[in-house]
Amino acid sequence: MPIKESEAIVLRSFPLGEGDRLVSFLDRQFGRLRGVARGARLPKSRFGSTLELLSYIRIWYFERETRELVRINQCELIESFLDLQSDYQAGVYLALISEVTEAVLGEREAADPQFRLLLLTARAIRKNGPYPAVLAYFCLWTVRLGGWLSSLDQCARCGKELEHEGAYASAGSSGMFCTNCRENWMKLLSPVALSIGRAALSGTLERLLKGNPQLAGSTEMSSYALDVLEHHLERKLVARQMLITEKSE
Ligand SMILES: [Zn+2]
Repeated sequence: MPIKESEAIVLRSFPLGEGDRLVSFLDRQFGRLRGVARGARLPKSRFGSTLELLSYIRIWYFERETRELVRINQCELIESFLDLQSDYQAGVYLALISEVTEAVLGEREAADPQFRLLLLTARAIRKNGPYPAVLAYFCLWTVRLGGWLSSLDQCARCGKELEHEGAYASAGSSGMFCTNCRENWMKLLSPVALSIGRAALSGTLERLLKGNPQLAGSTEMSSYALDVLEHHLERKLVARQMLITEKSE
């Protein structure tokens, strides 16, 4: 089997056997894959710190026709996010974005936009800290890339503009609704949260952050997007439970 060379981001890794690691990674060209890194847990392993959470690496691996797991031959670090782990909340953000990415992507489905989103988000966490707007941006775009995004502009039933009064939604409802059309169980998304959502979807993350988005509104938006993701994944996200929720004043 020929060796493949690619860029990848490490999503997760687990100890395997005596000294190996099972690694889940997002290959920029070929999508999410799992592989075995032999001897990665042994002292002086040739893998060094390349297999840490969200490490951006160049990777060489062999695919075997009969097996699901690839054999990882070599990795070179391009960019590490290990230093961010010293901040608790930043560490949880990294764990959450990698958990979401792993959960939403099918194995071996090319996912270059999600690859770029993940890298951009990790870099923004380094630059700005674990800031709720960064999480809101990541989650909303993941919802959009998954094809689960509702219009944030108009009521899904009557078409009324949602700009001023906010919108009602629930994770399972396909759409946002005005006060008249909403169901009782739907939660209100404030006008501020909606405008942060629109800014996230219509521009770059950098531009969103320059606008100094309000903490409470950003948290509202990221919670909504995480609810939608959990609804479609049909499970709770583990890292979400570890987030320190910032109480709005
Ligand atoms: Zn309506």
